[in-house]
Amino acid sequence: MTSMLEQYADIAGEDVVEHLRQLAGPLKNVTVIHVNSTRMGGGVAEILAKLVVLQRELGIDSRWEVISGESQFYGCTKSFHNALQGKQIAIPDALLKVYEETNAQNAALLRGALEEADVVMIHDPQPVPLSKHCPNRKGKWIWRCHIDVSRPYRKVWNYLRPFLLDYDASIFSLAEFVQPLPHPQYLIPPSIDPLAEKNIDLDPAELRRVYDQFNLDPARPILLQVSRFDRFKDPVGVIQAYGLVKRFLPPVQLVLAGGGATDDPEGDEVLAQVRTEADGDPDIHILRLAPDAHRTINALQRAADIVLQKSLREGFGLTVTEAMWKGKPVIGGDTGGIRLQVVNRHTGFLVSSPEGAALRIRYLLQHTDKLHEMGRKAREFVKEHFLLPRQVREHLTLMVALLHGNQERIELGR
Ligand code: UDP
Repeated sequence: MTSMLEQYADIAGEDVVEHLRQLAGPLKNVTVIHVNSTRMGGGVAEILAKLVVLQRELGIDSRWEVISGESQFYGCTKSFHNALQGKQIAIPDALLKVYEETNAQNAALLRGALEEADVVMIHDPQPVPLSKHCPNRKGKWIWRCHIDVSRPYRKVWNYLRPFLLDYDASIFSLAEFVQPLPHPQYLIPPSIDPLAEKNIDLDPAELRRVYDQFNLDPARPILLQVSRFDRFKDPVGVIQAYGLVKRFLPPVQLVLAGGGATDDPEGDEVLAQVRTEADGDPDIHILRLAPDAHRTINALQRAADIVLQKSLREGFGLTVTEAMWKGKPVIGGDTGGIRLQVVNRHTGFLVSSPEGAALRIRYLLQHTDKLHEMGRKAREFVKEHFLLPRQVREHLTLMVALLHGNQERIELGR
């Protein structure tokens, strides 16, 4: 079987892979442990599944650990997530205690490995207090924040910040997210893996199957949003935009596809609200997908005419990247990481309201030449900026700098 690196050489070019090998030279046998709080669902798990494999192929001893807790822990960390993205939420002390105790319990299981690792990368707020429980750590600890912390609710940020003070570096996806912290902060946007089931080319027969499976009419336009059922993803706003479009055009179809993530307890509540808003409209297809339905999501993204990601806050939005890679223009919320990807009027449109989204949907459906042109530009933009080798290169560069930065000479490629 061909290695991932060999396959990337075919897609991104031999020199890109050669750069990765050179950068990985000084990192041979370095131990890197990534820690997050879910193995499936959501963008972080999606990224780690690939990043770890590629780092291992490059000779780095990269591992992925997942912390776990009871429902109150996930309730608390979901409140952190909402508060860091700007929502004013009072989190009871009892829940904060559960958060800290859950981290202490997980640290008891992971301490040995974490203290020995050369690099520990903690993803998002859930496992942040682990560092406090590893007093003899010898490696560099990095906080990798995937969410939009441009305007955090101060009370919650002030609670979390002290846990971050003894970290060696932080990574954010965008300059706007950077926060005052006493260590270097790096900007590394995420990426997608073009070789993953979610992104590989599909046989037309597979697309036809998805029309049948979900009762979609291939003769009518399909609008799609793929997302966890989360208020920040604004699924209700998407239905409102669809409602406005429907008044003017031959009937479009809307697909809202989303499963849950094991560390996101609010999905059912938001889904119920979405169903109420859809009001039994037979052209609104609400799909609850299994966490490993990657090929189905791939096929839906390819079957769609326009992809929406009408988020109100968005750390990055891998769903935007995935759709653009499939040559689809994206109508996205004018926020966070969507702004990095949707170049307004070139690779899609940035919008701030259901009315704005509806206006752009109508425009694209009436100007299909523009729709296709934007789709082509979208794919090129992803190819240039948001494929996995670029992200791996930046991670390797950061690790080389952190581990060897104080040396007079760093010899790459050995
Ligand atoms: N996803 C999925 N199934 C779903 C919903 C989302 O596999 O039902 C995937 C989606 O394709 C993307 C990731 O989960 O790869 C979501 O990442 P994104 O950055 O868009 O949002 P997040 O969930 O991390 O806020």
